[in-house]
Amino acid sequence: MYVETILPLAVPGTFTYAVPPELGPVQPGVRVAVPMGRGRRMYSAIVRRVSDRPPEGVRTRPVISVLDATPVVTERQLALWDTIADHYVCTLGEVMIAALPGQLLLHSETRITLAHDGPLPGGLPVNAAILLQALGAQQVLTLDQAAGILGVKDPMRAVKALIEQGAVTLEEKLKNTWRPRMVTYVRLAPEGGDEGMMHHWFNEMEKKAPKQLALLMRFVELSRCFSEAPKEVERTTLLNRSGATADMLRQLVKKGMLETYEREADRPAEDPGSGAPPPLSHHQQAALGTIQEAFNEKGTVLLQGVTSSGKTEVYAHLIEERLAAGRQVLYLLPEIALTTQMIARLRKRFGDRIAVFHSRMPQRERTDLWMRMLEGHAPPIVVGARSAIFLPFHDLGLVVVDEEHDPSYKQHDPAPRYHARDMAIVLAALHGARAVLGSATPSMESMFNARSGKYGLAELRERHGQVAMPRIVRVDLRDARKRKAMHGRFSRTLIEHITEALGRREQAILFQNRRGYVPVWQCGICGWVPQCDHCDVSLTYHKQEHRLRCHYCARHYPPPTACGHCASPRLRMLGFGTEKVEEELAEIFPEARVARMDQDTARGKQALERILDGLAQGGIDILVGTQMVTKGLDFDHVSVVGVLHADRLLRFPDFRAHERAFQLMAQVAGRAGRRSRPGTVVVQADEVDHPVLDLVARHDVNGMYEREIAHRRGHGYPPFTRLVKLVLKHRHEDRVASAARALGEELKAGLGDLVLGPDIPPVSRVKDRHLRHLLVKLRRSAHAHDKAFLRDTIDRVMSMPEHSAVQLVVDADPV
Ligand code: ADP
Ligand code: ZN
Ligand code: ZN
Repeated sequence: MYVETILPLAVPGTFTYAVPPELGPVQPGVRVAVPMGRGRRMYSAIVRRVSDRPPEGVRTRPVISVLDATPVVTERQLALWDTIADHYVCTLGEVMIAALPGQLLLHSETRITLAHDGPLPGGLPVNAAILLQALGAQQVLTLDQAAGILGVKDPMRAVKALIEQGAVTLEEKLKNTWRPRMVTYVRLAPEGGDEGMMHHWFNEMEKKAPKQLALLMRFVELSRCFSEAPKEVERTTLLNRSGATADMLRQLVKKGMLETYEREADRPAEDPGSGAPPPLSHHQQAALGTIQEAFNEKGTVLLQGVTSSGKTEVYAHLIEERLAAGRQVLYLLPEIALTTQMIARLRKRFGDRIAVFHSRMPQRERTDLWMRMLEGHAPPIVVGARSAIFLPFHDLGLVVVDEEHDPSYKQHDPAPRYHARDMAIVLAALHGARAVLGSATPSMESMFNARSGKYGLAELRERHGQVAMPRIVRVDLRDARKRKAMHGRFSRTLIEHITEALGRREQAILFQNRRGYVPVWQCGICGWVPQCDHCDVSLTYHKQEHRLRCHYCARHYPPPTACGHCASPRLRMLGFGTEKVEEELAEIFPEARVARMDQDTARGKQALERILDGLAQGGIDILVGTQMVTKGLDFDHVSVVGVLHADRLLRFPDFRAHERAFQLMAQVAGRAGRRSRPGTVVVQADEVDHPVLDLVARHDVNGMYEREIAHRRGHGYPPFTRLVKLVLKHRHEDRVASAARALGEELKAGLGDLVLGPDIPPVSRVKDRHLRHLLVKLRRSAHAHDKAFLRDTIDRVMSMPEHSAVQLVVDADPV
């Protein structure tokens, strides 16, 4: 028997191995340990296909061991991997690395153990006998240890001899370490008590066992066990918070007051959710009907609904429907960290029918969900970030892609550089499931697909509950500066609106898409700007830590006291970041409680939650932040939103800049006045008449589409072509330049004008490596041909000896 396998490596293709008969039959989707390359490198590979004939013309090495009795990857998952590798021009191994939870991916230690206690075989080769002896003493050896004992690079020959004799088995250490993590909780023992009984105990213990009493009282407090809404108490929390020892707790259990019980971590207590959904408005009802009808003919429907129109309720109905049919649901969110609110909302509705999955979860929890799904007892709904598309669904009925326009659905680094929205649609098709994409500001691609009839289209044009759309007020910064109507970065108009909101005890959100204090220090005499030593980019000053930082490589530098070129001490600061906005706010509104939300302040989950709680509970009056504040924040009392400098968004050198600028502004505007009173959005700009700002002011998503799509058509940009961006990197500029030139010429020979570049990007050196860009447009009409040509050309040019050291990053559908 032969198996074609995928190895967790960035090498193209699959690898075929022979399966020795004693390892038994193998099915696709199981992991096998295989040797690769010289030496004793071993990997766990996934079996892609099984065949009884050897591949032609190549010598196959044998599989070392079979790691799973049943598949850990399903056929449909493998099919998705194929599509991703093909579509994003990467290797199957790279997809495998992204897809499998780390604990299933083990390329680490494989262990050799004795197979049985019986008599050991004789007549073995010397090395095999030595290993056997060592195993007798030690029970377990890793392959590395075996190599050390034998003093050889490749211990597999000796090990294999032992395997053939049935004397040892190989096992993946990690294979056995996966076990669900159990958490111990404490509750009142059934006979332990009502309140009367408890008083009795309290009196008893007051004199005899004051420490146990303290423990019991802490338990009553934490568990609120005599209240309407008792809470579960973890054993460790109880012990930590009461300062009691495990023994004291054991005493209370022995006395029959308390008892302990276990449950798997991250598996909520039985809770079907509060169910009882609010009735849909007739707009929502209509949208739901449109979607259901469209699903009869189309796999995918776009739900285009203004901010706060109640899209979530529509999704919830679709979800209920699929669950009732016994099928699974995948609910994708762009950035899990920013969506705790949404998860809480879904949990309230669906209770323990929801599992959460994202790549920042601990390894074991991810593995845990994966294994539970394989075994068929995982919750039917998975709410996740982009990597959730890789989970082993067995009968997916619906995929919801919430905020489908969000660029964080695209993975930037490393490969596979996939777009989770697009691959979720592929996944849905593999299961015969339906997909609904929702957004107030859909991507050009999705709107195009909806208008051309490829997707269905449903719309919600009004906010739920007759809340008005926010009013947009534009402020001409040039004029305001001339009239000296500015206070730092704040126009008088913006200050007035914030003042009024604060007077009504309402909140404000301010958006400035740049973090740090000031991005540029410049010599007032010669124009010198401090730059990173390793990247061609100017450094950003962070005042709080009093350092200059490179936002490309994260290095930091002490701020200069004089010009690095002419030594003049006259340094000016240009531009502004969120930190500076925060500082100015403190001057203008000394009473207000100001918080900042950007990569620097919201690093950990807890820091972020503190900010969100502050907004929810009124502990924050003004929140300033980067694009993080545009995403899905839903708070009752935000009535003013300010965009401090719209031009920065509009002038970004990218063909998507206007689309993005519109989305960001419309989304952040959507944070204003979601519940009761209509909100106000103040947009400050130099170029205040910019047509995109007109469209933002009118909330005109369709107008934006018309304007933008004409431009895309004219220039042959997506959705009329598919883009593939090629980034070449090398330490020596001449090397990267010549590789880029060669690749460009070869590509142009086949694709002509569809190839743009090579160009020197605006930031032309990052982390000591020089960069060159090429952009290739793949024609929709000749997609397969163009892609194959691209792949072949890349392989050919980049494997030439003079270019082989140049690193190439292929980014298909860059965002
Ligand atoms: P979107 O996702 O479109 O921005 P949401 O789903 O957050 O909108 O809905 C906006 C607000 O309206 C939320 O507070 C939500 O609870 C409320 N809402 C939406 N639909 C209904 C409904 N049918 N009945 C009651 N409240 C609703
Ligand atoms: Zn100078
Ligand atoms: Zn740098």
